[in-house]
Amino acid sequence: MSEDIFKGRVLATSCISMNSALQISAEITYNSWQRKWECDSAGFHTRQLVSRVGTRLVFPDDRDTGVSYCRLLLGDTMLKDDSFRTGTSDSPICDCGIEREMADHFLLRCSRYSEARSVMKNYTVSRKKGAIDFFGVTFTNIDGIS
Ligand SMILES: [Zn+2]
Repeated sequence: MSEDIFKGRVLATSCISMNSALQISAEITYNSWQRKWECDSAGFHTRQLVSRVGTRLVFPDDRDTGVSYCRLLLGDTMLKDDSFRTGTSDSPICDCGIEREMADHFLLRCSRYSEARSVMKNYTVSRKKGAIDFFGVTFTNIDGIS
């Protein structure tokens, strides 16, 4: 028996159903995929937003919005922080002067977009009381939402 294990073979001592075999295979594949996702050197920014593989993302029908959504997921936006990193902006600081213009600042804190944010909060709060679901990440207690 131990010799078979070293050769990569294990003798089956009992039978399993086809459904059980498929379920075990799916579980091994999913865990393998998750492990690769967690350990890969690429995709750091996306992994912070979508930590579990197999997470269903809903893309908008509008192409321009979909492109912006993908760029946010990839951490490659036209916001100043990303533009500064790629050399197309002189500063990573937002025009409001408060902090770096990153996606979370742009969407959640920038004073220049407070009116649009209010519309977004009202929409999301009406869908899920007390939390904002953003790229599969649930934010709670944002600016007094309870
Ligand atoms: Zn700002």
